[in-house]
Amino acid sequence: MPSLKHIHTYAQYKGRKGYFKCIHPECTHFTSRELVLEKKSCCTSCGGEFILDYENTQMVRPRCLMCRDTKKAKAFQIGKRLLAKEISFTVGEGLIEKGEQE
Ligand SMILES: [Zn+2]
Ligand SMILES: [Zn+2]
Repeated sequence: MPSLKHIHTYAQYKGRKGYFKCIHPECTHFTSRELVLEKKSCCTSCGGEFILDYENTQMVRPRCLMCRDTKKAKAFQIGKRLLAKEISFTVGEGLIEKGEQE
C-alpha cells in the first residue's frame, strides 16, 4: 500500500531503532530519524502541524511546542502569550518606539 498524501504524524517506530513511522492507521510511511528532521509532522497530542527538530525526534511521540513540557517549549509558550498581550497594548495605547538611544 502506498503512503497516503497527507502530513504524516511521526512517532518512533518500535520495530527499528532510529526510525519514525506515521501513526495514521492506513499509512505505511516510515523513514529514518535523519530524514524526519526539519520535516512537517502533525502533533501526536493536538494534531496541529509543526516542524520536527532534534529535540522532537528524541520523543517517542513527538509533540508541537504548544504541547511540550520542556524548558524551551515553556519559553516559547510564554513568549506567545507576551506577544498577544503586547499586541493588545499596542492597539490601546499606540505604538511606542523602543531602543532609540542605543
Ligand atoms: Zn502518513
Ligand atoms: Zn500539539
